[in-house]
Amino acid sequence: TKFSDLALDPRVLQAVAEAGYETPTPIQAQAIPPALEGRDVLGIAQTGTGKTASFSLPMITLLGQGRARARMPRSLVLCPTRELAAQVAENFDTYAKHTKLTKALLIGGVAFGEQDKLIDRGVDVLIATPGRLLDHFERGKLLLTGVQIMVVDEADRMLDMGFIPDIERIFNLTPFTRQTFFFSATMAPEIERITKTFLSNPVKIEV
Ligand code: AMP
Repeated sequence: TKFSDLALDPRVLQAVAEAGYETPTPIQAQAIPPALEGRDVLGIAQTGTGKTASFSLPMITLLGQGRARARMPRSLVLCPTRELAAQVAENFDTYAKHTKLTKALLIGGVAFGEQDKLIDRGVDVLIATPGRLLDHFERGKLLLTGVQIMVVDEADRMLDMGFIPDIERIFNLTPFTRQTFFFSATMAPEIERITKTFLSNPVKIEV
C-alpha cells in the first residue's frame, strides 16, 4: 500500500510526504480505509507502530471536509499523560499544516487562561488529558455535543492510572452518533467492557 492509495485529503498527503514518510505502517494501512468510511476502529497496538498517524490522518481528512474553526470542537483526542498529549498535538500540527484546522491542547500543570482563550475562539480539535478536560467542562467552558470524532489513545495506561470512570463520563458527554477510534496495547477485561459499551461494530486491528 502507498499513502496515495488511501483516499486521504491531498493536503494531508502533502504533509506526510514532507514529513518524509514513504509507506504506511501496518496499522496505518489497516486502520485508515475503514476510518475514512466512517467505521469505528479498535486498534491493539503499542507505541512506535505509527498509531498516532493512523487516527490523525483520517481525522484531519474527515474534518477537512467540513467547515474549519467551528464554534464547538468537532473532534476530541484523549491521552493518559501530558507528555503524550503534547506529542499528539505536535503530530497533529505536522499533519494538518496545510489545512486551516485549529486545535487546543488541554493539559494540567498550566493556567486555565490560555486554554480558555483558545476554546472561546473556537477550535476544531481538542487534545486533552481526561482530568483537565473534565475541569474545563465543570467550569462551564466546554460543550462536547458537537464532537463527531473521539479518539482514546493508550487506554491500557488510562486503566493503570484510574481514568476509566473519567473516560466513561466523557464518552457520555459526546453524541451517540460520534465515530470512535480506540487504541490500547492490551485488552484487559475492563478495557474490553468499555469497547463493548461505547464502540459500534468496530473494525478490530491487531499489530
Ligand atoms: P507512534 O507510534 O504514533 O508514536 O509513531 C512512532 C514514530 O514513527 C513517530 O516518530 C512518527 O513520526 C513515525 N512514523 C509514523 N508513521 C510513519 C511512516 N508511515 N513512515 C515513517 N515514519 C512514521
